[in-house]
Amino acid sequence: MSPVQKPAPRRSRKSSPKVGFVSLGCPKAMVDSERILTQLRAEGYEIAGDYGGSDLVVVNTCGFIDEAVQESLDAIGEALAENGKVIVTGCLGARRGSGGGTLVGEVHPKVLAVTGPHAADEVMEHIHAHLAKPHDPFADLVPPGGVKLTPRHYAYLKISEGCNHRCTFCIIPSMRGDLVSRPIGEVVREAAALVRAGVKELLVVSQDTSAYGVDVRYRTGFVGGRPVRTRMTELVRELAGLGARVRLHYVYPYPHVDEVLPLMAEGRVLPYLDVPFQHSHPRILKLMKRPASGEKNIERIRAWRAICPDLTIRSTFIAGFPGETEAEFEHLLAFLREAELDRVGCFAWSPVEGAAANALPGQLPDEVREARRARFMQVQSEISAGRLRRRVGTRCTVMVDAIERDAEAGAWRAATRSAGEAPEIDGLVYVALDGEAQARALPPGSELAVRIVDAGEHDLFAVPA
Ligand code: SF4
Repeated sequence: MSPVQKPAPRRSRKSSPKVGFVSLGCPKAMVDSERILTQLRAEGYEIAGDYGGSDLVVVNTCGFIDEAVQESLDAIGEALAENGKVIVTGCLGARRGSGGGTLVGEVHPKVLAVTGPHAADEVMEHIHAHLAKPHDPFADLVPPGGVKLTPRHYAYLKISEGCNHRCTFCIIPSMRGDLVSRPIGEVVREAAALVRAGVKELLVVSQDTSAYGVDVRYRTGFVGGRPVRTRMTELVRELAGLGARVRLHYVYPYPHVDEVLPLMAEGRVLPYLDVPFQHSHPRILKLMKRPASGEKNIERIRAWRAICPDLTIRSTFIAGFPGETEAEFEHLLAFLREAELDRVGCFAWSPVEGAAANALPGQLPDEVREARRARFMQVQSEISAGRLRRRVGTRCTVMVDAIERDAEAGAWRAATRSAGEAPEIDGLVYVALDGEAQARALPPGSELAVRIVDAGEHDLFAVPA
């Protein structure tokens, strides 16, 4: 065994589980080894110096040239022969074999798990599965889904940080940098842990959800040992299999978004898209440095609705952008009437310190920007109310957010959301309940079938179906 340097024990635990570690390959692989070893020590595992003293062995492999591949396969074979419990990670783990699985799995079918490189969290998860984590009286106080600020039954799942666009009204890229996608295995593991901890709805967020994986050229990651590309469609498919509702936010209307619509039509993902269009007129979109033109967006919306007629679309817009003419603003209102979006927010343009748009010519007076925002909202509120009215008489499944009691009337009702309402930003579906007993049977996160009986400007009213 050629183990990495054995760190001095931090504390001795008679019963601490022991992990042997073989680290092969380049400095990047060594950094991965260091991350895993650091995490092992932080969790109370001991690092063993020989196969016999190890409860399990991790082999970090190299797959660069044939010689390195052979050395890695030999090291795995030796660890299997000497110890028997082996987890493989590193570049060779990402190589596919002739049968479609991993090369390592085909040569050494007895290995417990195989991951690719940069997969410290996934390796740790496999270690936990095969060699129980030592009890830590402090760390074990943290709930399995982590500390959350949201109610227990829904949670935000951040899939990337930063943004590759340079919208002229936005300073996020200057603060958070270019897009950095989280490894797909890590995202799915976090989502699975949230679901295990009781989360019933996952809200996928980022600066640009459709761009997930662009920065890593959609590289293949590993989810539970299976190779999966770092890409929005693949990620959504994985999340759809976890048994929770999945809602997508900040989705840009790129062509590949069409791929998730069938998943929505099949009921595997909530038929809901939060798409920040910002404007419709090509010249304003260009001034904003936004990716798509208004005409294409209308076509896209039509295509989405043809695939998934129940789709709810939420969006945000800016009225009174620098240089926006009355005709261009009218273009935006016409877009709204044609697009018939379900839920919409609108901001009157206002300069943000550091934004490039501040220097654009044709800045409009505050009153004009504000008046356009008000006109926009007038048009949209009629559209939104009309869309809600169309739902009266239909049936749907809702998820309970909270139970409320009208102290004066003594009536009970459940504040719920169907597929069409995201928490905190959209309206609610209020379900009239029979009394306290029915209310008590509906904890937050429970689902029930309802019939919509009335619609307000933002909210819907229903009765159990
Ligand atoms: S508005 Fe969104 S897409 Fe545009 S730069 Fe800011 S974060 Fe990126």
